Amino acid sequence: MRLLLAVLILSCVVGNLSGHSVIDRRKVKQGVNCGYQTCPQGEADKLNVHIVAHSHDDVGWLKTVDQYYFGARSEIQNAGVQYIIDSYLEELLKDESKRFIQVETAFFKMWWDEQNEETRDNYRRMVDEGRLEFIGGGWSMNDEASAHYTAIIDNMSWGWKFLEDTFGTCGRPKIGWQIDPFGHSREQAAIFAEMGMDGLFFARLDYRDKTKRKNEQTMEMLWRANPRLGAKSEIFTGALYNHYSPPPGFCFDLLCSDVIIDNPNSPDYNVISKVSDLIKWAEDEAKAFKTNHVMITMGNDFNYQDAHVWYKNLDKLIRYVNAEQASGSRVNLFYSTPSCYLKGLNDAGVTWPTKTDDFFPYASDPHAYWTGYFISRPTFKGYIRSSNAMLQAVKQMSSLAPAAGSLEAELNLMREALGINQHHDAVTGTAKQHVTDDYYRILHNANVAGWKIFEAAANSASAVNGAPKLAYSPCPRLNISECAFTESTTSGNFIITVYNPLGRPQSPLIVFPVVALENGSPPTYVITDPEGNTVPHDVFPLPQPILVLPGRNSNAEYQVHFVARDLPPVGFASYHVSVSTARKNRVKREVKLKVNRSKKQGFVFENDFYVITLDSATGHVSSIERKDQPGISASVRQEFMFYNGMRGFNQNFSDRASGAYIFRPESQAPLTMRDQLDVSFVAGDVLTEIRAYTEDWASHVIRFRSDSEVLESEWIAGPIPIDDGVGKELISRFVTDIRNGAKFYTDSNGKLTEPRTRDYRPTFELGDDTEAVSRNYYPVLSRSYIRDEDQSDPNLSRQLTILTDRAQGGGSIVDGALELMVHRRLLYDDAFGVGEALNESAFGTGLVARGLHKFILTSVSNAAKLYRAEEVKDIMRPLYAFAPTSLSAKKWLTGYATKVSALKAPLPENVNLMTLEPWRDGRLLMRLEHMFEPGEDAVLSNSAPIELLDILAAPVLSIRETDLSGSQVAPVKMKWDYEGKADKEDESLNDDIEKGVITLRPSEIRTFVVTLA
Ligand SMILES: [Zn+2]
Repeated sequence: MRLLLAVLILSCVVGNLSGHSVIDRRKVKQGVNCGYQTCPQGEADKLNVHIVAHSHDDVGWLKTVDQYYFGARSEIQNAGVQYIIDSYLEELLKDESKRFIQVETAFFKMWWDEQNEETRDNYRRMVDEGRLEFIGGGWSMNDEASAHYTAIIDNMSWGWKFLEDTFGTCGRPKIGWQIDPFGHSREQAAIFAEMGMDGLFFARLDYRDKTKRKNEQTMEMLWRANPRLGAKSEIFTGALYNHYSPPPGFCFDLLCSDVIIDNPNSPDYNVISKVSDLIKWAEDEAKAFKTNHVMITMGNDFNYQDAHVWYKNLDKLIRYVNAEQASGSRVNLFYSTPSCYLKGLNDAGVTWPTKTDDFFPYASDPHAYWTGYFISRPTFKGYIRSSNAMLQAVKQMSSLAPAAGSLEAELNLMREALGINQHHDAVTGTAKQHVTDDYYRILHNANVAGWKIFEAAANSASAVNGAPKLAYSPCPRLNISECAFTESTTSGNFIITVYNPLGRPQSPLIVFPVVALENGSPPTYVITDPEGNTVPHDVFPLPQPILVLPGRNSNAEYQVHFVARDLPPVGFASYHVSVSTARKNRVKREVKLKVNRSKKQGFVFENDFYVITLDSATGHVSSIERKDQPGISASVRQEFMFYNGMRGFNQNFSDRASGAYIFRPESQAPLTMRDQLDVSFVAGDVLTEIRAYTEDWASHVIRFRSDSEVLESEWIAGPIPIDDGVGKELISRFVTDIRNGAKFYTDSNGKLTEPRTRDYRPTFELGDDTEAVSRNYYPVLSRSYIRDEDQSDPNLSRQLTILTDRAQGGGSIVDGALELMVHRRLLYDDAFGVGEALNESAFGTGLVARGLHKFILTSVSNAAKLYRAEEVKDIMRPLYAFAPTSLSAKKWLTGYATKVSALKAPLPENVNLMTLEPWRDGRLLMRLEHMFEPGEDAVLSNSAPIELLDILAAPVLSIRETDLSGSQVAPVKMKWDYEGKADKEDESLNDDIEKGVITLRPSEIRTFVVTLA
């Protein structure tokens, strides 16, 4: 047996540890003329109107990314991004008063790659002069409800890296520009602040909130996104006055028909009215804001394909409006940018109001709560989530295994694919079907590239003395229990290699489907772990709903599963499987329960931690009791229910249909399904499954492992029936006797926790409307929970937490209940632009989705420890693939390294190695994250001291801290006065950088550039 607890990079060079605090500054071009100093100053006694020329270029929506870039399919939408960039650059080169902002880096990179050096030099000059400014700068303008925080940070950092590498410091954006996303999260604000941005602007907020803020001059505020982290996570935030559009009558684009006609002899001469309209508009706008600066967005979706049309008219507008100053007008127009507007606000010396909650959900009218997109396209959202998890893992592999690191193009393909898919019409599920199909194509190619990296890394990890490389087959269709490799391997041996991206051991379930042989039984399996021990496993018959999944091209009727126990942190472990047909396999039997009303006693199941009782009359779960926590038990009934989606033609508010964006049920009480379930169970050595079938289109398996405090509900949803002409929205609802008093909790992009109260918003009056369900739906990226309001003894207060494996939405619509929507299929468009009903189909029928809810019942005091540990395993998902081998288990153990880790030791329980990826010049980007918020756990919420040089097993030459984006230059952030600002500086961090010792505060992320020896 050969057991190697080796490192992926073996090096005997002893690093110069004293060099770790040395700053490795690449020569970064320092912009001389860009930045705030190039801004027009405005005039103290005037109303300074910052004209911001911009184009909002969706990275896919009604057309695919490529169709938008090249300008194809103009019958769908007249939009070609390549022409936009060509055109605004030409205008800027002609006249130095002009300015423009470039936002979406995915499109910009496409354009840049096609340009000759002369054009690139021209563009660089405009950037260096501050006239062309990158704003936002993410690969896409990511959504804020359905994008995981790890994916948001990646999306932003990858866009910024390109800009900084191409333009130096002048390429570094200062402003978050989330002008179209449909609601705004606290975590997004924190991320922008921690990247070193100075300001954030957006357009969409609840219509009542906006009215109130306009009236109270609180459209602009200091968003204290994570007060515990102080200034680090604070960002000045402004809501735009008029969406991101020009004032009515001033859309000077080719796509519009407004124009300034300044020949006095023309019967259409309109200068006087245009000037007075604009002056009135600016003065009205100024009433909603605190200073003598206002911003007017002059642009819209895919505007500026012919920038000359815009600028020619804006030139006239500026000239004629400013000419009125001679007659006493205060209004002073000039070309500007969002950052120059921000500079004007910062110079004004005003004390700003603050904000500490988020901007969800967004409602644009009394019947349009934008809560449907939290759930729209569940299989697509699931694919983005699993692809994002894969990206996190393969970034690590590329950092640590040189053979994988050489696959840079593959890694970049993944990074860019994931960036595109965080766009606010991608992960939201609000793009047209053919565009979504294209997003799937992009993700598929990314996954193929990811598996190449996996194979290279796995082979270098296991290589010992020239042992032959293994040819790995991933099983990307395990989500439908289909795997060509394991189904066709009915004799011989194979290897399962598992990668654990988590900085601690984890013990996932490894699953693979298998077929029956001619004797009616599947083969028998002997599974050997990396140490040479035989691993217990079960062979279960697959649940019936799996066998009939549309599009499933598999003969597998069984699945094998085992626990890969204590996988090495940030490392590989390999298992040997020998397959034989010598005897019949003893498959575990599925036992049907006799559900009937005459029986009194419930059906009882238990493991080490729980007793679960099923109602004998219905088959539903009726109670859950903790064996290890006296007093913690609850009546719990899980049920699939559905809402009929509102039918409507959207002529007015009350006629709004439920659609891709909007969730609008016909009635405020969900409809029930069959009360009496078909229930069976399968008990194995590794786990027990309770299989509950409701209707043909909703079922789930409740799974519990003998050793786990986490229960699972693996749901299958669809095909949702529509033959009655009604769209339907399917929920999984847990009804309990927990007394939560209208309070429940959801997350912010999977990181921070948001307290919610039914029918309540912290900053404005919600008032009455008829949308009792939809207005209480919130995004759930990772966790939602309810708990007893009475917290007098946290060891006796109960908490039910549900964790998701993809972006969803839900809430506590009635006391004691927590619901999450899992699937929606609708027959009407909701008239917010996509122009299609959300009626997904596949294989000739409605789309079927399969996913996982993990749920935990525990005392409040114990809850965070469990859910934080569990949810990080969803992002740091183990990856595994299969490879044939002719070796016996014995020979395999001596011929290959079977277990390797890249860490010196497992990380503490409250610290996550969030990022490890190749960055610039052979260096690595490393992010460490404190996983707990203040007060969440009695012990684990404490600050966590970290010895930076003791994390990676490979010797470290130098480590330098950066902002969250991994930029090479440290930002100097603007300072703001705000209400309630304490005089004291942020608490000291107790860092000892010379020794490489830092302290992570609760919920904090810190980013480092690491040079390995
Ligand atoms: Zn958009």
